[in-house]
Amino acid sequence: MIATKGYAGHNAVSPLVPWNFERRDPGLYDVQIDILYCGVCHSDIHQARNEWNESTFPMVPGHEIIGRVAKVGENVKKFKLGDFVGVGVIVNSCRECNNCKHGIEQYCSNGAVFTYNSFERDGKTPTYGGYSNRIVTNEYFVYNISDKLPLAAVAPLLCAGITTYSPLRHWNISNWHKVGIIGLGGLGHMAVKFAASFGAEVTLLSTSPSKEADAKKLGAHNFILTKDPEQVKKVSNYFDFILDAVSAPHDYNVYLNMLKTNGTLICVGIPPTPVQFKCFNLLDNRRSIAGSKIGSVQETQEMLDYCAEHNIVSEVEVIAIKDINTAFERMIKGDVHYRFVIDMSTL
Ligand code: NAP
Ligand code: ZN
Ligand code: ZN
Repeated sequence: MIATKGYAGHNAVSPLVPWNFERRDPGLYDVQIDILYCGVCHSDIHQARNEWNESTFPMVPGHEIIGRVAKVGENVKKFKLGDFVGVGVIVNSCRECNNCKHGIEQYCSNGAVFTYNSFERDGKTPTYGGYSNRIVTNEYFVYNISDKLPLAAVAPLLCAGITTYSPLRHWNISNWHKVGIIGLGGLGHMAVKFAASFGAEVTLLSTSPSKEADAKKLGAHNFILTKDPEQVKKVSNYFDFILDAVSAPHDYNVYLNMLKTNGTLICVGIPPTPVQFKCFNLLDNRRSIAGSKIGSVQETQEMLDYCAEHNIVSEVEVIAIKDINTAFERMIKGDVHYRFVIDMSTL
């Protein structure tokens, strides 16, 4: 076993604290990675605080991992010592079910293994995430990282990046679409960058007037302050697609009414409480509500390569790991510009 240092939550109410634990030695197909950076996703907060009612403790959060290969198993083909690599939200799946065979492992019918707050395929060994100094992962779920881009700013691509890239690609977002993005946080700011890069007319729908200038710098063409009913009225029946990247409960009806005929509201944000909407808001204009979960292994590598080619990274504030609890509090207040990333050398 490999001695590992990290930060863990021990229950849903206490702050994260330093914690030592062990990881498996790399097996034949495993890569052992020294972690350099790990992004801080709002899903880390939801799970550390048991807001989805599915948490097990101790929990080492973190699924936006960038590191360097320190050791490889005998049969590893994709990587060698010293390579820069990434690990995202899933670290295994059954690879036999229909969805796995069709290369959408994130929808594995037998349950994908998540990077933390999950169990390995044996159903009993807990997984621990990237708020730690090393990780051991099957090579299939490890990604090549270009050394052309700043590594700290690449880390958030492993979740915030792929979670927004995947639905925008699935629904073929392109230059004839008007797209609204709700919430300028970690996911939202990547969604703005990708939607603009794919040629769409992009509007940020935000509760924070202070984010207008940044939204436009990131590529948004328009900004709507959703607290202002006059501004909201201007975009009724307006969008082809709206991508909802909000972490907190909010009124979905307001956004449904912004969709034009056949428009789709794509949910990627996962507020803790169930959603209520009026069926009339779907019937009118034959609107749809859809969801999307991260992205597949192949699509994640495609997204990382796309970002390297088009010079797309996340806007990050690099923090020391001792400041992780403050970072959580700031994210809850919407005070993040636009992703916290932990520098793991501070561990
Ligand atoms: P984040 O960085 O904290 O950003 C959330 C943003 O939502 C805030 O910056 C804020 O933007 C907006 N917001 C907050 N409270 C709001 C409210 N009451 N009404 C309207 N807008 C509000 O969070 P994140 O890391 O991007 O994650 C966003 C959500 O996606 C989380 O629920 C997370 O669990 C989920 N997620 C889903 C997947 C998936 O596979 N589907 C993957 C990763 C994360 P403004 O200030 O602009 O309003
Ligand atoms: Zn995430
Ligand atoms: Zn499967």
